[in-house]
Amino acid sequence: MRVYDLILKKRDNNELSKKEIDFLIKGFTQEDIPDYQISALAMAIYFNGMNERETADLTMAMAESGDQIDLSKIAGIKVDKHSTGGVGDTTSLVLIPLVAAAGVPVAKMSGRGLGHTGGTIDKLESIPNFKTNLNRNIFINNVNEINAAIAGQTGNLTPADKKLYSLRDVTATVDSIPLIASSIMSKKIAGGADGIVLDVKLGSGAFMKDIKEAEKLAEIMVNIGEKLNKKTIAVLTDMEQPLGKAVGNNLEVIEAVNTLKDQGPLDLREICLTLGANMLLIAEKVNSFKKGYELLEDKLKTGEAFDKFKEIVEKQGGDLSYIENTDKFKKSQNRWELKSQKNGYLVQLKAINIGLAAMLVGAGRTTKSDEILNEVGVILHKKYGNRISKGDKIATLHYNKKDDNFTEAVQKLKDSYLIENKAIKPKDLIYKIIK
Ligand code: URA
Ligand code: CA
Repeated sequence: MRVYDLILKKRDNNELSKKEIDFLIKGFTQEDIPDYQISALAMAIYFNGMNERETADLTMAMAESGDQIDLSKIAGIKVDKHSTGGVGDTTSLVLIPLVAAAGVPVAKMSGRGLGHTGGTIDKLESIPNFKTNLNRNIFINNVNEINAAIAGQTGNLTPADKKLYSLRDVTATVDSIPLIASSIMSKKIAGGADGIVLDVKLGSGAFMKDIKEAEKLAEIMVNIGEKLNKKTIAVLTDMEQPLGKAVGNNLEVIEAVNTLKDQGPLDLREICLTLGANMLLIAEKVNSFKKGYELLEDKLKTGEAFDKFKEIVEKQGGDLSYIENTDKFKKSQNRWELKSQKNGYLVQLKAINIGLAAMLVGAGRTTKSDEILNEVGVILHKKYGNRISKGDKIATLHYNKKDDNFTEAVQKLKDSYLIENKAIKPKDLIYKIIK
């Protein structure tokens, strides 16, 4: 087999066999195949796509390119959750304790944020002393003892995806449906999940900006899951505006605590209950979505979900006093308020710009080695569709230094919003559930 011939085959819009895909991924992982050939292949896939069989084969080849986690020492059906990435997406922080409190084991491997999207691991590490580098045994023991553990991706999990993703990032081939689908699903499969709930984000702050494209991505991932015997449900959710009101690590942990006490923003609550109910359904804890939803609502109301979060924080070494009194979290040195110049309705709130503003003041990374400032970010006082009076506070930027980045962040914030004179109906939060 020659790499050249396989690139040519895909360039001319022909199908690659399982053997050919395995050969390419193995060679690439072992560094026998150079980056430039795989870059050319990625571009051919970008233009000509892959069918479902090829996408499933690519998923398995990448899942098998490194370690695969064995969760068989944890009793029951293990369900993982994955978000395609968004702005202020505080979901995992709430969802993990919530589902665990309902009696379903959650063994969660999470990532760090890059660019305008945040990562669960960074958010948790903003709790002083919280440890996310759990070794495999401690990770599994914690799930067996308290039903939940959250760890950063350790070891050699899906090295093919890591390498391919960094090539895609610099060759304008990230937003290809078969490449995104195989990248996400390979990590979930290597992570040992029996079932998967996918939060496919749609809108300005997400990879997918178009509902038809998002539906296609969701359907392909659900089909790959079924083909590989992993029950998979995809929930298409809005990421035109950020989720909840907080963007930034400390601000989002505080928002998660409030939501777990059932005093959080309603959009974040609704998404967590919807994703969680589907996780309970896959785990066979309940036999209907409605029962799952009601069980989880009960866990919020009784305080059991919040208690579970405290248990997780304690178990992973975090300083519980911050969770019990969130005023203890470090605050940014300065605040800047965006105020409305006129009366009207908020008809645009672009998540991408809010994410970039937060990143510019230090809440996100532009390169993998950047340090994140936990105390900075954005608080949204108004959301899409809200009525606004002249002089109302719309958003607060939490920042430290008045430098060039601050000036740019302020401009991004101003560019996020559009206020017009006519009322609009609120956006759908959940567009569709595909299973
Ligand atoms: N998230 C991933 O893990 N991979 C992609 O390709 C896109 C989003
Ligand atoms: Ca949020």
